[in-house]
Amino acid sequence: MPNLVLLGIQGSGKGTQANLLSKHYGFDHLNVGSLLRKEMENRTAIGDQIRDYMLRGDLVPDEHIFSIIEPILTEDADKLVLDGFPRTINQAEYLEGKIPVEYAIYFELGDKVAKKRLSSRRVCQNCQANYNLLLNSYLREERCKKCGQLLERRGDDNQLAINRRIDAFHKQTKPVISFFEQRDRLLRVDAQKKPKIIHEELVSKLNL
Ligand code: AMP
Repeated sequence: MPNLVLLGIQGSGKGTQANLLSKHYGFDHLNVGSLLRKEMENRTAIGDQIRDYMLRGDLVPDEHIFSIIEPILTEDADKLVLDGFPRTINQAEYLEGKIPVEYAIYFELGDKVAKKRLSSRRVCQNCQANYNLLLNSYLREERCKKCGQLLERRGDDNQLAINRRIDAFHKQTKPVISFFEQRDRLLRVDAQKKPKIIHEELVSKLNL
């Protein structure tokens, strides 16, 4: 079975679509950002080394990314949805040497909308569910619909870090889009559409 890569600026809805695709096809969702946040929370040696990069909104150096991801990208790894990896050409080449990728899906979204979405994103402190206050105006008390816990802003969803993350996307991740395009693996999606519509479009386009 194939592996999928999800690419796009922060706030383009990769995580939401990764969840929907994983449920639909029975894939494993590999969210690299969330693995990194766990390392920070658990105060592991890697967690302490990556904290400043993450909070500033800079990409974490490849050596740390590879040491976290290496045990997952085994020879027989399949049915993976890679969300937030690769984000540099070096990472894309590393991935190519590890497992085959059937499709790289690029969620296209302008910087302005991405910034707006990120500044209105809230995350549950308990179950990590994500919400967007723009789409969920009834979330007045800012509590999670699933577990009732308080919602909060992610540490890197502040103006300064948002700008740096968007900058990193343009400078470091955009070349990864061409990388997959040259290999005839790229599928483009308009990330402005509603999540349900995007999901249906993907299922009809992906030949899985
Ligand atoms: P995300 O949850 O995908 O928005 O990622 C949050 C942060 O984790 C990013 O701003 C980076 O600091 C770091 N990060 C996530 N994925 C990668 C990656 N593939 N390479 C380097 N840093 C990453």
